[in-house]
Amino acid sequence: MQIQVVQNVLKLNDEIAALNRRALADAGVACLNIIGSPGSGKTSLLEVTLERLRPELRIGVITGDIATTRDAERLVRFCDQVTQINTGGSCHLDANQVRQGMANLRLDGLDLLIIENVGNLICPVGFDLGQRAKIGLFSVPEGSDKPAKHPRIVLEADLLLLTKTDLLPYVPFDRQGFLADLRAIRDSAPLLELSVVTGEGFDDWLAWIAAFVGRGASAKGQAGPSR
Ligand code: MG
Ligand code: ZN
Repeated sequence: MQIQVVQNVLKLNDEIAALNRRALADAGVACLNIIGSPGSGKTSLLEVTLERLRPELRIGVITGDIATTRDAERLVRFCDQVTQINTGGSCHLDANQVRQGMANLRLDGLDLLIIENVGNLICPVGFDLGQRAKIGLFSVPEGSDKPAKHPRIVLEADLLLLTKTDLLPYVPFDRQGFLADLRAIRDSAPLLELSVVTGEGFDDWLAWIAAFVGRGASAKGQAGPSR
């Protein structure tokens, strides 16, 4: 039975994700799962984020890709705890892969673990990795219809980012339509708009991370699951 197999895979994944979440909470490490399409700007976002937060926060990165170590090579310039997972064709990270990635990191030397998921806005949303928050990326060049086409990330993300806002004058993007679709799916969905090129909106993103990590520090050991 196909359906039974899928349910068993997800159940096993959830069990391992719970172990990851427990290990991270015990080590006092906050964890973000970054989800967005190929080219939505996940790695570029992380480059600037790591550079800007490096003085204040000890950050580790697990970056997932189908092939190549290019993202890890970019990020290791800003962070000495980076591990790359090649999924070998799978279009999402699963909790067991993240568990293996965590084994390559010194968790007790970290305040924050950022997981860059495989570029894909579909199944990464459904695979719990043990994160404390999911960040969903939409980018201006992808087009303004993406929230309507991918409602699940809108419903589940702890924070949504609209990236590459520096391109708004140059590409067709119906910002009012984008916002209307987003609010129709989830009126309270938290959204920040930013550009790593101009720096617009970036301080708000950094402040969000600081508050997120701080919340974990004050609630250490009682971090609830993020779904
Ligand atoms: Mg990337
Ligand atoms: Zn997948």
